[in-house]
Amino acid sequence: MKAVQFLVSRLYDACFVVIAYLVGARVSEILGLRSGCIERYGSAGGTETFCYLNGRIYKTAIGPGGQPHRWIAPEPVVRAVAVLEQLSVPLRQQMLRDELWLTPAADRDGTGILRSAGLTDRLNGPFASFIGLPLHDGLPWHLSTHQGRKTFARFVGRRDRTGLDALAAHLGHVTRAMTDVGYVGTDHDLTDLIDAEATRDTRAALEDLLTSVNVGGKAGRMIAAHSRFRGRTRDGDVAEYVDYILEETDMRLGRCDWGYCVYRRETASCLGDDRGPNPVFRTQSICATCSNFAVTQRHRPIWAERRKQNAELLAHPMLDGESRALATARAEECDRILGELQQDRKSDDG
Ligand code: SF4
Repeated sequence: MKAVQFLVSRLYDACFVVIAYLVGARVSEILGLRSGCIERYGSAGGTETFCYLNGRIYKTAIGPGGQPHRWIAPEPVVRAVAVLEQLSVPLRQQMLRDELWLTPAADRDGTGILRSAGLTDRLNGPFASFIGLPLHDGLPWHLSTHQGRKTFARFVGRRDRTGLDALAAHLGHVTRAMTDVGYVGTDHDLTDLIDAEATRDTRAALEDLLTSVNVGGKAGRMIAAHSRFRGRTRDGDVAEYVDYILEETDMRLGRCDWGYCVYRRETASCLGDDRGPNPVFRTQSICATCSNFAVTQRHRPIWAERRKQNAELLAHPMLDGESRALATARAEECDRILGELQQDRKSDDG
């Protein structure tokens, strides 16, 4: 039983790490989570599902009960919550409560929840040994319950500073300046990590563009027209060529749900600057007309769904003239992009 209890505690620790690093919530917010805190939403076309983690923020709340808040939850976090829900069933039933971090041992606080100091001890003690936490500069690394939140904030903030407002809202910060100064400072290791991540993104996008038969968008068509890899599977030759492009040029491909951006400031329809696209004008309609835009079969579902939504809107008898014109323009733009992908598909079939 001791061995099982040890493993159960490590599962709790692991769930904490997953939630802290992938959501960025404070320790009090994670320990305050309750069963049933995951909320799922499906997109209109049913092609995607989004999940939120519902909880409470205590630090900046006026009362002791906290302020309701929800965070975007990626799939590993949804899984971690499901694991916590299963592990906590006996205690929740016994105590007739729904908190996920109820604890029977000496580690709990006055309300029966795991104490954060106890969690820090566990992370640095049995958890660090269990996962074989490597030394840092020859010394043991001290884990704290705040590191996941800081790493999450820095990773998101350093990668795209235009997202700081959204990040501040996600973290429950009162002001954007708090996010900016408190969490997104200078961190060279993290900058290297982010650069490596951006290069990986660019590599995957370039391989997709070079090997796809079905490419649309002005930049996409130009790249595809000069690619000798069209229709081939990704192999050593493609990887070598992508290495060459990455080493010899400063090309960086931006990714969004609806396509790729082969960014050049001179031709940016969104009026971007030296740092990159302008997020205010970066919309599907603006990108669709931009010389930097590329789209492959990977993005087809997004355009097909947009086409469908606008067709449904146009079928509405009460639609006013202005909205009708907008929906018509959007539907035509989707038809054009889908047509480009379809045309290439036909030539491939032929
Ligand atoms: S409009 Fe879209 S494709 Fe063009 S530069 Fe801006 S983000 Fe890139």
